[in-house]
Order: sequence, then C-alpha cells, then structure tokens
Amino acid sequence: MAFSFKGGIHPDYNKERTYASPIEVLPPTEEMYLPLSQHIGAPCIPTVKPGDKVKMGQIIADNPVAMACPIHSPVSGTFKGVIQHWHPSGTRQPTMVIENDGLDTVDETLHPYEGDLDDLTPADIIQFARESGTVGMGGAAFPLHVKLKTAFDKKIETIIINGSECEPFITADHRAMVEYPSTIINGVKLIMKCLNKDTAVVAIESNKPDAIAAMSKAAEDSDIRICELPTKYPQGGEKQLIKAITGREIPPGKLPMDIGCAVFNVDTCASLFRYVSKGRPLTKRVCTVSGSAVNSPANLLVRIGTPYYALFDYCNGFIEDPYKIISGGPMMGTAQHALETPVVKNTSALLAFCGDEEGFEENPTCIRCGKCIEVCPMRLLPTYIYQYALAEEFAECKKLNVTDCIECGCCSYVCPGKLHLVQAMRMAKGNIPKS
Ligand code: SF4
Ligand code: SF4
Repeated sequence: MAFSFKGGIHPDYNKERTYASPIEVLPPTEEMYLPLSQHIGAPCIPTVKPGDKVKMGQIIADNPVAMACPIHSPVSGTFKGVIQHWHPSGTRQPTMVIENDGLDTVDETLHPYEGDLDDLTPADIIQFARESGTVGMGGAAFPLHVKLKTAFDKKIETIIINGSECEPFITADHRAMVEYPSTIINGVKLIMKCLNKDTAVVAIESNKPDAIAAMSKAAEDSDIRICELPTKYPQGGEKQLIKAITGREIPPGKLPMDIGCAVFNVDTCASLFRYVSKGRPLTKRVCTVSGSAVNSPANLLVRIGTPYYALFDYCNGFIEDPYKIISGGPMMGTAQHALETPVVKNTSALLAFCGDEEGFEENPTCIRCGKCIEVCPMRLLPTYIYQYALAEEFAECKKLNVTDCIECGCCSYVCPGKLHLVQAMRMAKGNIPKS
C-alpha cells in the first residue's frame, strides 16, 4: 500500500493552540438562526408556522425531494418567521429564527432505537440517516442517507473513514476522536452493516497520536483497521485519501464510488450512532475557534444556528479587529463578512486573523519555477491553466482538466510570484463551455 499521494505541501499546521483543549459546551443564544440551505441539494421548506411553539430536536424544515434532509430545532421556544440573513456562503439567504425559551424541552417523539442493532436492515439505517438530519460534517455537507443509498446500490468494496483533518488550525475531529471514539466506531459499524461490509479503514494523520491510540482502543474488538497516514496537506481530500489507502486513482471526471470506495467523516459516523442509540438528531457540532486574532482559542460544542459572535465572545474576543474571518480552514475555507452569520451543519472551524497574512500582491508575476506543478495533488498544470483562464480560453482550460481541480490551494501556497491561482481555477471551472 502506498499510504501517500503525489504532490501536496507541509504548511505550518498551527494546531497546538487547541490540540489539547477539551471540547467545551457553548450555551445557546436568545435567538437561533437556521438557514434553510445547509446541505448540498434542495433547500428545506419550513414545516412550522410563525408563532408556533417548537421543541428541541423537533423537525422544523424538510423537503421531500431525494437530495435533502431535515433541519431540527436546536432549542425549545417559538418560531418567529423566515428572514433574509447572512449565510456562510457570503450571501443573504432565507433563515428561520427561533426565539429560545431557555427550557430545552425535548421533542417527546424522539427516542432511541429499542431493538437489537444486529436486526437493522440497510433500509432501516438509511432511513435513520435521513431522520437524523446528518450530512457530511467534514465540509461537503452531502446528505448521509443519499451517500449510503448510492453506496449500497453500487455495492462499493471499500469503506474509508476520514479522520485526517489535514487543514491547519482545525482540531474538531481530533478532539472528537480523543473524547468519544466509541461513538464514532459504533457509527462506523452501522455504516458497515448498511453496506454489507465486514471491514472499514479509519485514516488518521500521524500528527494525532492520541487520537490514533483512542480510536485503536475503541476498535480493538472489531475488524475496523486504524491506518496512520503521513502528515501532508491535502491528505484529507477524498481522492488523496483513496490513493493513500488503496493505491487506486480516480480517473478524471469520476467519483470515489466509481472505483468502489465510499468515504465518510468521523463525526458524521458519530452523528448517525447518536440518533440510533439516543434518539438525538443533529443539532450540535464541534467547532474549533482559533487564529492569530483570537484571545483564547478553543474547541466548542455549538448548537447549530448560533451566531459567530457568540463563539468569539466565549473565546474572550479578539486581540485586535480581525483582518479576515474564515469559516473552515485557511486553505479551503470561505471568508466571512458578518459576525451575525450562524454556525451550520458543516461549520468545522471559525478562524480570525490579524493583518494581511496572505501577503496580497497587486501585480503577480509568474517566474516559471514550476513549483505549482510539483505540488498539485491532482497532477494539473496550474500555471498554464491560469494563463488560459486570464485569456478567457476556457475550452483550453477544460482540455487541461481544470474540472479535476479540488481547489486545495497548494499551488497558490507555494507560488513565489503570488499568482491568484485558485481564484483562476474557480473562475475557469465556472466558465467551462458545455459540450
Ligand atoms: S490546481 Fe487545483 S488541485 Fe492543483 S494545487 Fe491548485 S488548487 Fe490544488
Ligand atoms: S509556482 Fe507560480 S511562479 Fe512558479 S510556475 Fe507556478 S505560477 Fe509560475
């Protein structure tokens, strides 16, 4: 087995400020903001009316189409209505507002599965995945029930559980693996049962030895293998992970399941098991708050719908006014514009930085060093694609397989000419002619 992939970089990981910080519970705010769009696919539609009382864990929005999953209330209180509100995508989007009554009255229709887990069928587990509202929590927000159904139909061969967390600063999955490894492993067992597989591989980077130890202990009575991978960015990318674990490469334009693999994030597994074993749908998640502008970085258990300012307030605010706030990691995350924006199902981190740490260059110049080509994990030619993108020759970009770009940022990170390579890739991908 290869246990690695070609290309990639070794950035300064900056995880030490929260690496050993236990997960702390952040109290909910007086009003919670639930965007109707929190997953890949169709946005949800409210299932309650303004003025209705809601309970914690109650479904408050859903959509019957296949590519959707429900949103549950993170608190008990009153549904005030739908407003246009800041969304992590940087736009204003329809958002449900719940006035928190502070009582945390749980929806009494929620209950654990009381039968024997061995009796569950794949259809049961797919149904539980939908009811739980679980999406890919590592960033993609792909509805879990859709991924399980597709993987089941395609009879995939290999289940890979992603505990790599290769982005700098983020330690949310790391702390989850250290603090509740059995919940994750039990979730992996449910996924194995759903997909009729006897084994699974949990991939964890070598810079998390305590997570490797905890997960190994939790998995010791099972056929789940814990695989230590070299620390290298973007090790957690699906294509890189599959290459490292199986040696298989995904051909251009294809997906992991086309070569028999399905990849699930560690906390996604935990969310599924919590619903089955405790009747608790996805209303909270672990979020790392860090970056040079944050006074007291932390790993927080946050209710979905909590505004960003509450997380930063809990961390004793900013050292100085942040130059940039990012949702997610510094390599692939999204710049944020408003502290009123709420945490959503895939918010793994909030980072705030002092000053222009990117070193923005007004007149970037290519010196033809070839470093971007060396580090591209998708074996693309970023410098050539960049030139074609600037010339708006998008058909040429397509010939150079720009659609395979995973927007990992490795090329921009190493470029001494400070070319805006990732932005050019994104622009080219958005303008590829249909043929
Ligand atoms: S071209 Fe895309 S995949 Fe390659 S290094 Fe740049 S951002 Fe990553
Ligand atoms: S790394 Fe930057 S300067 Fe070097 S070849 Fe690529 S685009 Fe040009």
